[in-house]
Amino acid sequence: MPPTRCWRFPRTVPLPETTRNNILRYKTKVDKILQAALEQKQYHHAAYDGLEDFVERFGARPSGSDELEDSIDFMKKKAEDDGFRVHTEEVMVPRWVRGEETLMMLSPRQKSMSILGLGTTIGTQQYPGGVLKAEAVVCDSFDEMEKLGEAKIKGKIMVFNAPFGDPMDEPMKRYGASYKYRTSGADRAAQYGAVAVLVRSRTDYSLYTPHGGSQYYGNSTQIPAAAITAEDARIIARHYKKGKTVTLMLKMSAANLPMRKSRNVIIDYGPSDSTELVMLSAHIDSWDVGEGAMDNGGGVFVNYHAVKLLKELGLMPRRTIRVVFWTAEEEGYFGGKEYVKMHEFDISKMQIAIENDLGTFRPVGLRAKGSDEAACFVKHTASLLGAINATGASDSPSLSETHLLHDKGVPAAAIDVDQSRYFWYHHTEADTMDALDPHELDLCVATMAASAFVFADVPDRVPR
Ligand SMILES: [Zn+2]
Repeated sequence: MPPTRCWRFPRTVPLPETTRNNILRYKTKVDKILQAALEQKQYHHAAYDGLEDFVERFGARPSGSDELEDSIDFMKKKAEDDGFRVHTEEVMVPRWVRGEETLMMLSPRQKSMSILGLGTTIGTQQYPGGVLKAEAVVCDSFDEMEKLGEAKIKGKIMVFNAPFGDPMDEPMKRYGASYKYRTSGADRAAQYGAVAVLVRSRTDYSLYTPHGGSQYYGNSTQIPAAAITAEDARIIARHYKKGKTVTLMLKMSAANLPMRKSRNVIIDYGPSDSTELVMLSAHIDSWDVGEGAMDNGGGVFVNYHAVKLLKELGLMPRRTIRVVFWTAEEEGYFGGKEYVKMHEFDISKMQIAIENDLGTFRPVGLRAKGSDEAACFVKHTASLLGAINATGASDSPSLSETHLLHDKGVPAAAIDVDQSRYFWYHHTEADTMDALDPHELDLCVATMAASAFVFADVPDRVPR
């Protein structure tokens, strides 16, 4: 058989015609799944309503918190009650607490500024009265910091006013290109003698909202690290560039407490004798601000309702669909790393892992990471989603836990969505139910259910 052609970056790659035809044969079944998800009354806004109940019960679910553990128990029980095979697996997770935090600009004029300490940051407890008062120095990049040198940085608070990537790129790519200022800004600035770091929030749009997130210390002295709003970063930068002395007063009582036990939730749907898996991935933990509705409660509920829909439609796939709710993703993939350590056999037999952590907005198709042949496989699967206008296929810049599986050779994919609003809410107090739309969640359920079924049932293996 001659190979069929498939477009990728930007060259054509072969996929056997039998494989392509085997995928395309699912059109009728896919349409049936999409129609059920969107037109049957009992599924109307079901994922949104379930998520709303969930976030109202538990709110934010940071790693190491009772709220996270209670939310894990809740989802496990829900899956048991719905008749799924479900179990949890233990993971040790970090426990960082924010405490109180304030920032005040003292000169050239007084202004109170909103901040969010970054995950794992230390506080300012070591300074007299727990208050750090110092002059600010502003850099737009690590290169600029290097040019400025230690003499001009030592003893000062480094403000990274770095742009949010290249405005011509899509939001996730802009984030990928610029989150290093948040994750390693403190470690880098400490090498030049900075006493604290303030990072301009990673966002393309701000209504004075600070965006938190993880940061990691390396070998340098540990210094306090916090995010400030894009607006305040520019205010400080404008004063500084005009040659004015900007003095800041920072107070943070953050602390790192001992690790504690948490769990990944693992739900299986499929024939009990199948060893091959299709994984649907989302994380159940969130940051301590907002309610973790978009990041990533939406992913949890969409994936759950997708597999529930297949079960209720009586569609039993050839392979097992494994839905995993990861714990402690935000602090650095603690749940995912433990899974990779414990599941070598499953991973070797995994057909594909599908991530759902780009925000549960209007789906536009699927993303792929893996060999050209695997990407082509994903593209043909996405081509079946014409009824909901979600036939797009592109490369994945961000895959959360599935990147760990991808590193072990598993083909990876992600539900792709309209990302335009993602970084309005990401890691902020604004990540509540208001960020999401019930119909868009229904469309995400339809997309995940249909794609998961095709990957789990098609006779062919996704090429590694
Ligand atoms: Zn997330």
